[in-house]
Amino acid sequence: MHHNDESNIGVIMSTIPHVVIALAESLELRWKHYLDSGNFDAFVEFTLALNSLTERLDQLQLSGLLRDGLALEGVALALYGDPSTHPIPPEAADGIERQLTPILRELRRHETPAVSSRRQVDGEDNPDEQRWNRPRNVLIVSRPGHPWTASLSEQLEFFGFRPRQMRWEDAPQEDEPPLAVIFVPDKEATAYPSEAIATIRLLRGEFAISYFYCLSVPSALDTIVLLQRAGADACVPAGDKISDVLSRILDLVEAKEQDVPRVLVVEDSPTAVAHISRSLSQHGIDSRAISDPRHLLEAAAGYRPDIILMDMYMPFCTGVEVTRALRQLPEYQALPVVYLSSETDIAQQVEALRLGGDQFLTKPVNPIILATVVKTKIERYRDMLYSGRHDSLTGLLNHTAAKTRLDELLRSAGQSGRLSVAMIDIDRFKSINDGYGHPVGDQVIRSLAWLLRGRLRSTDLIGRYGGEEFLVALPGADLERAARILDRIREDFATLPHAHAHGTLRATFSCGIAAVPQHDTSTALIQAADDALLEAKRNGRNQIVTAAAA
Ligand code: GH3
Ligand code: MG
Ligand code: MG
Ligand code: MG
Repeated sequence: MHHNDESNIGVIMSTIPHVVIALAESLELRWKHYLDSGNFDAFVEFTLALNSLTERLDQLQLSGLLRDGLALEGVALALYGDPSTHPIPPEAADGIERQLTPILRELRRHETPAVSSRRQVDGEDNPDEQRWNRPRNVLIVSRPGHPWTASLSEQLEFFGFRPRQMRWEDAPQEDEPPLAVIFVPDKEATAYPSEAIATIRLLRGEFAISYFYCLSVPSALDTIVLLQRAGADACVPAGDKISDVLSRILDLVEAKEQDVPRVLVVEDSPTAVAHISRSLSQHGIDSRAISDPRHLLEAAAGYRPDIILMDMYMPFCTGVEVTRALRQLPEYQALPVVYLSSETDIAQQVEALRLGGDQFLTKPVNPIILATVVKTKIERYRDMLYSGRHDSLTGLLNHTAAKTRLDELLRSAGQSGRLSVAMIDIDRFKSINDGYGHPVGDQVIRSLAWLLRGRLRSTDLIGRYGGEEFLVALPGADLERAARILDRIREDFATLPHAHAHGTLRATFSCGIAAVPQHDTSTALIQAADDALLEAKRNGRNQIVTAAAA
């Protein structure tokens, strides 16, 4: 039961995006270069390439490969040293080779033609990265007939995944690595006996890029450590609901904000700027530099940095003064600021941190430390922005963010572009709340949110507009196409069982759709979709109405 042909999210591309393959190739090249030359700079290049690869694996949550990559990175960093320690002894080089080879082999194994299937909506022009969709098959490992297996499969299928089942003692059959593997231990037995752990380890060797969930993990640190060692990514405690696991699996396929990190460097020394921007760009981080702090506000407004690297001593004023001034402006109160200085005076550093900086780096900064500090700070900053823009019940964009996003989509669609906007409202929701309680109502809202996330593309807008109201925008889709896509979702939603204390209930929604060019501002689109929604309610609910041309 898959209805992804319209929404195209179920289309499988290469199992590993080719950016990663390219990073691996450059890593291999650099390693060979080091073996040939034995010089320190080549080793630095190699560790930088390795670091970029592990960063990317981390970002993509390719956890098995990440684990191996990090282990190798640890070894390489320990051998970093200085020019006099290179070339490293042959045994050390052999050790690196032994760890590097399987990583490269694994990556090559998953390399599939980049253009296996590109079912794009007309007029769409996505960067390569966005075209890559993660595989959607999920492997469930359990004893046959375990009560959870069937319900888990059913739900996964409903939200657009392809569940497969395997017994603990079976040999893995999949040729393509699954998105996720879910381990369901036997309730009657000890949750994770050593044979189970051995199976997890075996599968981890087989599926380096899959995400591993172990369900019903007892709250015992020794078990959790053993499971993690065997390759588990997430240990879900006993008592947690299956719906939580489902929500986490959906997170895996959700496109994270993939914006290139932006760093604004405020530094008066051209040499320092050159060193910093080179180190950053080797890690795929974009940067811009200004030498006069008095231009900071224009630069920040135009460039929208995720972090500022701030020199301590500059001609007009000190970095600390600039940071204090910046913190006076509401939009920059949370922007991370990292000081750069050749300062070794601890008291100065403490003072600088107290006055609004986040961290201190001493120049010249080790490029890996610089990139790591920058990336982790940016990640935390973006997470903070993310939670301000998303709704906590459903993970969807909240009201304000949805409207902002719609304006962006409208701008990028331009005059000729296609864009449809839908307003969705659950039918007679009050009676669900009244009849079964608020928590059941909440779960119905989440289920609809998941269904939308599962069925629509990552480039579509899905927002929680109000309590049980959703705003959806489909770039590239005209009215007719949007109606077709949403009508499928409507049909399926109506059949989805929602659990309550005494059984299950069914819910429906009504939907109104409006499109460009009949309506050309976000306000007009939302208004027209809302009117159409009212019409759908008046006509008896559980239906879709498209706005008549204005
Ligand atoms: P209609 O078919 O006309 O849409 O009927 P309805 O009952 O859905 O009508 P209405 O939109 O007026 O009611 C929505 C109700 O949803 C009112 C509110 O109590 C409830 N609600 C709003 N937000 C939440 C929420 O986050 N959780 C739950 N459980 N209920 C909510
Ligand atoms: Mg200076
Ligand atoms: Mg409503
Ligand atoms: Mg309603």
